[in-house]
Amino acid sequence: MSATAPENSPSQKKNVVIIGGSCVAIAATLTAKKILPSTHRLIIIEKHSHFHYMFAFPRACVITGWENELFVPYTKLFDSPEKGQVLQALATNITKTHVELDRSIDGFGTSVEYDYLIYGTGARHPEPGNLNDHDTKTGAIQRLKEMQEKIKRATKVLLIGGGAVGLELAVEIREHFPEKEVTLVHSRDRYMLSYKLGLHQRAADILKEFGVRQVTSDRVIIPEGGFVDDFKMIKVATRDGKEIESDLQSDLLSKLSPASVDPKSRLVKTKTSLQIDDDAFPNIFTAGDVADLEDVKTGGAAWRQGERCMRNICKMIENPKIQTAQLERHVPMPPQIFLYFGVARAAAQIKLLGFMIATSWTFLVKRFFSYNVHATRSWDWLGTPLTKETADN
Ligand SMILES: Cc1cc2nc3c(=O)[nH]c(=O)nc-3n(C[C@H](O)[C@H](O)[C@H](O)COP(=O)(O)OP(=O)(O)OC[C@H]3O[C@@H](n4cnc5c(N)ncnc54)[C@H](O)[C@@H]3O)c2cc1C
Repeated sequence: MSATAPENSPSQKKNVVIIGGSCVAIAATLTAKKILPSTHRLIIIEKHSHFHYMFAFPRACVITGWENELFVPYTKLFDSPEKGQVLQALATNITKTHVELDRSIDGFGTSVEYDYLIYGTGARHPEPGNLNDHDTKTGAIQRLKEMQEKIKRATKVLLIGGGAVGLELAVEIREHFPEKEVTLVHSRDRYMLSYKLGLHQRAADILKEFGVRQVTSDRVIIPEGGFVDDFKMIKVATRDGKEIESDLQSDLLSKLSPASVDPKSRLVKTKTSLQIDDDAFPNIFTAGDVADLEDVKTGGAAWRQGERCMRNICKMIENPKIQTAQLERHVPMPPQIFLYFGVARAAAQIKLLGFMIATSWTFLVKRFFSYNVHATRSWDWLGTPLTKETADN
């Protein structure tokens, strides 16, 4: 017979579960470490073995030898399983009380009970924006290396879709392989519609300097079965006409709460508290790319929303009778972005001295340059500082 579990051992604690282990989850976790009551622990369900630092994928498709820095182990995110755990599994169903998994995990079996849930499943972007289907570090690095080889072998490269990924990739290729012809086809007459016109103008100018052939206001007719060796940045329209390059991951939630998923955009409708817009589930929150919020879909916005979800959950744990109106309200974030154009150029929309500006002024933007697009910070977030020794973990 097994001994009785000590009080507050993992099995005694209630779970705050997060589905998706990316920006939303990391921000929520760092907040939880400061304020989550000891009655609860955090359980992240993520299908990848490592955190994907996708911000650097466009560069890593072109430049070889540092791919291992873009996949960070989850193993040190929590000091102990009593505080939290990352379960590598695919969430396959959500019930009123549990999240079901595609595999059995020690200590849990095939489902995880939740007291509170954050739905942060994000969006699937076409490769190379995301490497969704590569669940191990080795597999994901292998895929980046295949793309590098593909680009190296090509004489002409056609990029479809002038979002951040297409723009950055076009310049990376021209910078490292100036002999290759690069064409970027974009369906609108300007890039980065959700940002200032100045950002479009600066990006277009830099692409021109690098000799990228730019075709705007046009669509590529994709042959049946797709192109061989293409790089597609496919766009989908969102509710208010904004475009994002993605395939939203809202299906799981739509089974439990059809009311909370917009049938057209597939985004998850939220209250200002970031609870899903369904009174039957006040304990389910959502944030990040999958959430129907006014913010432009960025890691920065997902981060702020993830923090807010966790703060509101902690308020509810401390005062179960609290009303939605007493929870923190989400305020949309003005859109900011930094587009890396090779090693020495960039265009950004940033807040400076209280004003939102679009700039490509090298003197200003160069202070943000980093060969690995600041991937090192993600190792700090996840508790394993990046060194030569840890990079292959
Ligand atoms: C190439 C690229 C560059 C970018 N550059 C920038 C930038 O410079 N600055 C910026 O602010 N933003 C940038 N973005 C946008 C930013 O990456 C996203 O807005 C951000 O990642 C959204 O975070 P998220 O947590 O909502 O979801 P995601 O990052 O999409 O992550 C969702 C996670 O959920 C997991 N998941 C999904 N379904 C399940 C399931 N059923 N079970 C288990 N796990 C599941 C996925 O594996 C994934 O890890 C960039 C995006 C791309 C693609």
